[in-house]
Amino acid sequence: MIEQLNICRKCILPDGFLGVQLDLEGTCDFCSDPDHRNINWSRNEISSERRKSALTNWNQVVEEMQKNHGNVPYDCILGYSGGKDSTALLDFLVNKLRLTPLAVTSVTGFMTDIAKDNMKHTLKQIHVDHVIIEDCIPTFTKLYKYHFFNHNSNETLLARDICDYCSDLIHSIVVKEAIKRDIPYVLFGYSPDQIFRYFYEIPQEDVVHYWKPKLLLNDPLFDISDALCYLNDEEINSKNIPRVLLPYHVIPYQEQKIIDLVESKNYIKKGHADPLLTNCNVVHAATFYDINRYGGILYAFQYAELVRQNPQLRKKWLRTLRIVTPLILENKFKEEEVNDFLENIGISQHELIELIQTQIELDPKKTQIESIVKLIRKRNI
Ligand SMILES: [Zn+2]
Repeated sequence: MIEQLNICRKCILPDGFLGVQLDLEGTCDFCSDPDHRNINWSRNEISSERRKSALTNWNQVVEEMQKNHGNVPYDCILGYSGGKDSTALLDFLVNKLRLTPLAVTSVTGFMTDIAKDNMKHTLKQIHVDHVIIEDCIPTFTKLYKYHFFNHNSNETLLARDICDYCSDLIHSIVVKEAIKRDIPYVLFGYSPDQIFRYFYEIPQEDVVHYWKPKLLLNDPLFDISDALCYLNDEEINSKNIPRVLLPYHVIPYQEQKIIDLVESKNYIKKGHADPLLTNCNVVHAATFYDINRYGGILYAFQYAELVRQNPQLRKKWLRTLRIVTPLILENKFKEEEVNDFLENIGISQHELIELIQTQIELDPKKTQIESIVKLIRKRNI
């Protein structure tokens, strides 16, 4: 009988956490194998050649944008969420590269008040045009609803699925805006640890073919109005599909420097740039589901990755995980936001827990999950 969770001695992943196993020395699969991947996370180490050629490409793109600057209304579109990374990227484009981006926010309907505040403070100081697209809120809501009610996996975290589907929709909306305005580049501020799916550039094939989910055709929850949020045939066949680039994958990125920058310039209030305070209440709700359903959360993979990149951070993230995990489990972390979200998609916290219980009953890893959850509840982590 385990009394305490065994944590990887190099990162912060617990033994038995969604298939993660510690070896005899106490090192997890991800730390001992740089190419290790499972359905929820992959290390996906980028070779230095690949990194170098992507950086060369980015420098060419910047040169191209600066050359055309002044001849076009906008040099690029920035997908702007109000989080620390897209805020810092906006500052970099405008104040360092002297470019004119169009900031585009696709509203999911569940943006946190912190993100809204951040945008207000930032745009008071950085004068760029800002387009807010709200037309697809009903489609976002249906996507979330579908995934919360139909997440029947013993392997994949709900937050993983939801984030993928949701970001595909956000990307679609922003790319549609770029096609409409004939803007050749779309940029997103994904940080270097967010390379699960893409490194530096989202391939055009994905932009065109893979974003629109099949469930749009197969599930009666969705109708023709939802398809309008994704690229239509005319847009797919148009010649001006933008390149979608993730510059932070190649330009220097240090999380603490980003936080210091956005706080010192008063774009984001002190303490509000913490990655734990994600811009998204959907993720908070999905994380509540995941910890109760699997005894684990997506953040743990992300923190573990940050620790691997900078081992000095291990103590900090381990402490965070120890404090936050039990709070998330008991829905005390972002209680009001989570409950608002659940109410919006038509399920109560109690009903969700009941749904989770029936799912755990059918999970071959039931005993393991229950013992992890018990340890978290007793704060034995
Ligand atoms: Zn590890």
